[in-house]
Amino acid sequence: MAGFICRFTWTRGPDQGKRCDLGPRMEDGFCVFHSELDEERPFPRNLASLLAERARKGQSFEGFHLADAKLRRVNLTGADLSGVDLSGADLALSQLVKTSLRDADLNGAFLFGANIQEADLVNAFLMGADLSETDLFGADLQGVLAFGADLRRANLAVADLRKADLSEAMLSGANVNGANLAGAQLTDAVLDGVDLDRAASEADLAE
Ligand SMILES: [Zn+2]
Repeated sequence: MAGFICRFTWTRGPDQGKRCDLGPRMEDGFCVFHSELDEERPFPRNLASLLAERARKGQSFEGFHLADAKLRRVNLTGADLSGVDLSGADLALSQLVKTSLRDADLNGAFLFGANIQEADLVNAFLMGADLSETDLFGADLQGVLAFGADLRRANLAVADLRKADLSEAMLSGANVNGANLAGAQLTDAVLDGVDLDRAASEADLAE
C-alpha cells in the first residue's frame, strides 16, 4: 500500500491540519487506529513502543481506537489520551503520570498497579475497570463513571472525586486521605478498611 494516507485529519496537537500518516490501512480508508470498522484491529507488533514514542514526542492520539490493546507496562507519561477508546485494554503496571484521560473510555480496562498520579480523568468511563493497587495520588477524577470498578488498595490521596459515581465499587483498603468526595456516589460500595473521616469532604452514602 505505497503512498497510503489515512482519511483522518488531526484537529489538534503538533500536526494540526495534516492528514494522519499511520498504518496499516483498514478497508474503510482509515488507519488501524482511526478506522470506524467494528472488527479486530491488526495493530503493529510493536504497538506499546510505538505509542510510547508518540507520547515522548508529544504527538497526538486524537481519535485513536485502542480497545482491547495489549499495553502492559507502557510508558505514556504526560500524553494526551483524552477521548481515546481504551475499553478492555491491558494497561497494567503502566506509567500514566500527568496523562490526560479526560472523557476516555476505560470501561473494563485492566490498570492494576498503574502509576496514574496527577492524571486528568475528568468524566472518564471506568465501569468495571480494574484499578486495584493503582497510584491515583492527586488525580482529577471529577464526574468519572466508575460503577463496579475495583479500587482495592488504590491510593486516592488528595484525589478529586467530586460527583464521581463509585456505586458498587470495591474500595477495600483504599487510601482517601485528603480526597474530595463531595457529591460522590458510594451506594453499595465496599468500604472496609477505608477511613472516610480522613477525606477532605463527605461523600453521598445515601440510597
Ligand atoms: Zn489514522
